[in-house]
Amino acid sequence: MALNPGSGDYSLRRKGFERIHESHFFLAPSTANQHASPLMPVLIVGSIALDDIKTPLAEHLNLLGGSASYGAVSASNFCPVLLVGIVGEDFPKEHIELLKSRQIDLDGLQIVPGKTFRWSGEYMWDMNTRETRSVELNVFEHFTPVLPESYRSPSIVLLANIAPDLQHHVLDQVASPRFVIADTMDLWINIAKDSLIRLLGRVNMLILNDGEARQLTGATSLIKAGRAIQALGPQYVAIKKGEHGCLLFGEKGQFFSCPAYPLEDIHDPTGAGDTFAGGLAGFLARDTEGRDVTFAALCQAVVYGSVMASYNVEAFSLERLKTVDAPQIAERFALFQKISRFDQA
Ligand code: AMP
Repeated sequence: MALNPGSGDYSLRRKGFERIHESHFFLAPSTANQHASPLMPVLIVGSIALDDIKTPLAEHLNLLGGSASYGAVSASNFCPVLLVGIVGEDFPKEHIELLKSRQIDLDGLQIVPGKTFRWSGEYMWDMNTRETRSVELNVFEHFTPVLPESYRSPSIVLLANIAPDLQHHVLDQVASPRFVIADTMDLWINIAKDSLIRLLGRVNMLILNDGEARQLTGATSLIKAGRAIQALGPQYVAIKKGEHGCLLFGEKGQFFSCPAYPLEDIHDPTGAGDTFAGGLAGFLARDTEGRDVTFAALCQAVVYGSVMASYNVEAFSLERLKTVDAPQIAERFALFQKISRFDQA
């Protein structure tokens, strides 16, 4: 049965999301949307991984990772999530339980014979430079995302970082979503640029980091790069600048510069970008249901994404992300407002 948010047989409601809400509180919808019910889910596809991470101060093995894991847990602070991904039979049950406990629907999660995708990375002293030490695709190698019937009419779609061909395959299966966001990485610009460029004609927003924006466009100026990416298709482009904030490009020259949160201790930057994308998409799903996605809403979404990313880097894997709560998110959002406001001279 197709997902029909307006009807009483709305499938997520049947799966007990209201009950689960009691154990995990969503952020209250904004005033503009406070009568919206039920909360609309965001569809997220991406990687689910077991990561080995080394920083100058610590090393941890077999951690929950992957773009979809970070994206889904981050988004789940704002709205329910429909997750599409693949893991092997070695994937620890505790991670499945974590996802389930967060209003993340797992009907789209394939658990197949074989090993889960594995990734290993090492950070240098500045915590900005990272080297990939190893990648084992394992079950990811033959992954074809198949959307359950109940996932095929999503309002907001987040194509988290995976191969652009797989992102296309997901879009082929959904009926006219309201807003599609794609994330990507340098690897796909190197080895799948044609497919990525075609994808840009199918999405409303692209998220990428500063180095990737320069790599994709050949521009040294990030302003030129943002505009050049818009010319390839998406109305909106978010360029992340790591610890220096984020730039948002909108239609007709609209522009927003989101500040960076003044974080003193970064323990593990892994997944910051995925967490940013998840928070941004989750906020949009929660806040703009039934309305157009405006530039003003996207500015708020970029700040919420930055808030979520700032919490994520405070601990390894999803350890901090899974404990952050609504008051903490609201508190840091307010701080972002405060540090970017100044008086007329
Ligand atoms: P980020 O720090 O935002 O680049 O994301 C890190 C996460 O991306 C890790 O948890 C990895 O498991 C995952 N990852 C690494 N390489 C890939 C890849 N080629 N495709 C999808 N996910 C990946």
